[in-house]
Amino acid sequence: MSKYIYLDHNATTAMRPAATRAVVSILKSVGNPSSVHKLGREARKVKELARTSVAELVNGLSEDVIFTSGGTEANNLALIGCGRARRLISAVEHSSVLNAGGEVIAVDENGLVDLDRLSDQLCSDSTPALVSVMLANNETGVIEPIKDIVELAHRHGAIVHCDAVQAVGKIPVDIVNLGVDLMSISAHKIGAAAGCGALIVPGLGSGTGCNIKGSLFGGGQERGYRVGTENLAGIAGFGAAAKEALAGLDDFAKLASYRNSIDEAVKTTNLGSMIFGAKVDRLPNTSCLTMPGVDSDTQVMAFDLAGIGVSSGSACSSGRTKISTVLSAMKVPVDQAKTVIRISLGWNSKKSDVETFISVWRDLGLRESARKINLSAA
Ligand code: PMP
Repeated sequence: MSKYIYLDHNATTAMRPAATRAVVSILKSVGNPSSVHKLGREARKVKELARTSVAELVNGLSEDVIFTSGGTEANNLALIGCGRARRLISAVEHSSVLNAGGEVIAVDENGLVDLDRLSDQLCSDSTPALVSVMLANNETGVIEPIKDIVELAHRHGAIVHCDAVQAVGKIPVDIVNLGVDLMSISAHKIGAAAGCGALIVPGLGSGTGCNIKGSLFGGGQERGYRVGTENLAGIAGFGAAAKEALAGLDDFAKLASYRNSIDEAVKTTNLGSMIFGAKVDRLPNTSCLTMPGVDSDTQVMAFDLAGIGVSSGSACSSGRTKISTVLSAMKVPVDQAKTVIRISLGWNSKKSDVETFISVWRDLGLRESARKINLSAA
């Protein structure tokens, strides 16, 4: 069987070789970063070096990084730990933010936060608030105007949390320039192992950042913000991947030409497909597109049979198709949303992967469209 083509890198991406080496090396060693003896001190050094690399990936300070078990936990720590009674959450957030509850900030048809609505919401109530908006969307790749959101929120005394899980390693991310108060990132989205992430809180180390309180009881690890013996192998891999991801940002940007060739082929095949978020800034690796009349799950299965892994834009549970909250928030009609798939390229994607995808997509689309014409003629 020929090689399986993986085009679902926003779900999780391939381990970077340096990250694998770092993980394996820790798994072969022993030492708890809290121990005072030599092996403990060595383990602590590994952790602190990784902290520096993770901080550098977002132009932050290592003293402001709190390691967590992943993006989900970083988001929870930010939302719960900041202690703000009022939360304003964009309608297109990941479930780890959305399910925390709060007032929803509407988005427009491109998936961009409606700044006027947000301004009205902030004006309507003076309770100190947290605004949570992601930097880039996992389904569409759409990049939110975080700097404008921060400026608006800060004017109203609100703090801003930014889920940058999908953005880091794909586009340059500068926490200082963005001005956010809290930022979440995740190791397995940048080429390290799942089960590790970080919350970065500018000013945490110097005591000038926003307040944050951990919710676990235990030892004093991560200065008490996230207690429990650290996932040192995960952290070491995270640091190694962060270094490679930072060095590889220019290469990652070049994936836009592959992604654009998919979008172009989809348009010229003339099946009436939609590409969501294509009119605004998007991650260079992501395309969220429809194949009219063909359910997402049918497409995912057809691609899988052809040896290509893509993601469905909707989930089917107990026989009913559940439309993605992101597409619903963008007011995509249900009939269209049911036919969406997401293609997400990764640091190791090749031109030939994309060419194969395009050829399979065309064959499937044209075959299904011919089948529908035959059915209606019969
Ligand atoms: N936020 C976003 C935007 C994500 O895409 C994901 C992962 N799907 C998460 C948070 C959660 O990260 P993790 O898998 O590390 O818990």
